Amino acid sequence: MRYVSTRGAWQSDPQPFRAILLEGLAPDGGLAVPERYPRFERDEIEALRGLAYPALATAVLARFVGDIAHDALARIVAAAYTREAFGSDDITPLVALEPGLSLLRLSNGPTLAFKDIALQLLGRLLEHALGGERVLNILGATSGDTGSSAEYAMRGKRGIAVFMLSPRGRMSAFQEAQMYSLDDPAIHNLAVEGTFDDCQDLVKALAGDAAFRRRHALGAVNSINWARIAAQVVYYFKGWLAATGVNAAKTRVSFAVPSGNFGNVLAGHVARSMGLPIERLIVATNENDVLDEFFRSGRYRPRGAGETHATSSPSMDISKASNFERYVYDVAGRDPQRLRSLWDELARRGSFDLHGTPLWRQVQESGFVSGRSTHADRVATIRDVHLRDRVLIDPHTADGVKVARELREGDEHVICLETALPAKFAATIREAVGFDPPRPAAWVDVEKRPQRFTVVANDRAEVAAYVAGHALAVAGRAA
Ligand SMILES: *Cc1c(COP(=O)(O)O)cnc(C)c1O
Repeated sequence: MRYVSTRGAWQSDPQPFRAILLEGLAPDGGLAVPERYPRFERDEIEALRGLAYPALATAVLARFVGDIAHDALARIVAAAYTREAFGSDDITPLVALEPGLSLLRLSNGPTLAFKDIALQLLGRLLEHALGGERVLNILGATSGDTGSSAEYAMRGKRGIAVFMLSPRGRMSAFQEAQMYSLDDPAIHNLAVEGTFDDCQDLVKALAGDAAFRRRHALGAVNSINWARIAAQVVYYFKGWLAATGVNAAKTRVSFAVPSGNFGNVLAGHVARSMGLPIERLIVATNENDVLDEFFRSGRYRPRGAGETHATSSPSMDISKASNFERYVYDVAGRDPQRLRSLWDELARRGSFDLHGTPLWRQVQESGFVSGRSTHADRVATIRDVHLRDRVLIDPHTADGVKVARELREGDEHVICLETALPAKFAATIREAVGFDPPRPAAWVDVEKRPQRFTVVANDRAEVAAYVAGHALAVAGRAA
């Protein structure tokens, strides 16, 4: 399997998996996508039934990874998906909520959010790719969940260091404690005197400096990373297999996905494109409803920072869905020329509209539908699911459940992806049900643990000096 760019750069020179593992971004600004989607025929899907999660993951991922030996891949996958890391051998258990609606629990990993599923694997894939010889200094910005998930995935990995910028004093006490209590000499928490946008600007400035970037072997593990998408494809197979049982042909299975950067639901689109019989992909947004607007109207209009609301499902507070380009590439017949003209229009006018164009039919045939929720919806849904189903869900998952209940059709079985545990969002849970969410034992006293972080000014030179002074040294020969 080789990879091309959504904007055309690699079409005549497709890249192997290991070449896109680090970056995901092509030199023309496009995103890496597989040359064509690997196909699972119906009997091949049935043959996956009954496999344990690591074996299932290896079978699916092997179709995307051509240049890591099958044995090595199986070992990496088995090391990532363990009962110790994810709380059960099922890794992503499916639990019934009410008739026609289930939850696929994706958030029992080390940091209690679904991003662990992809990042735990990515840490091991990167370590393997570096081969004990090369180094990688990961530079990132976080407003909460991604940073800790990345740090817990990369800690202890040979040849990898992390520099994570976070806005000082602007995360929840739990999120701060989760990140800052991590005790690993190669994990660097930089608490920036500024906002999340300032942190992102600092990362862009440093990573955009080609010489600095090369000298310190800087990399990123952001949500456009293709290996993250591939890792997420696996649990769509897992959820579909768990929901269908022996009557596979009679059950129409759809997924409802709380969405921000479009990474999670894109993995569902990929699974569907690989032949998994997913009926519909239900995109759920919060008040930041760029994606809902697109699937309803055909108009894609990313927002600016000033138009982005801070909500009670903060990991979905996104104004521009970075993975959306991969979906539009497919809708546009995988034609980089057409994709580029849409993105040119986006750059010129700030939006594009597919309604009334031939592409709109492709969108409608791609199985996507959408809905949105407000804070009041989430609180009501958390309360109602707790009362009726005796299950406590977090505000992001509540976005998904709210929209799933609204859009579910007669005999459809909807699997809502649980993207975080309620323990991470105590204030909203208290508002909904009047008590604090339970915490997994490992996190009970996390706020009391010693914290390690370095306060830095919102100043490029200061951050650059810190990174230069603490980065793993690049060996004499070029990487
Ligand atoms: C990241 C995240 C999301 C959004 O996922 P995308 O892949 O960005 O669409 C939803 N919920 C939680 C809890 C998250 O951490």
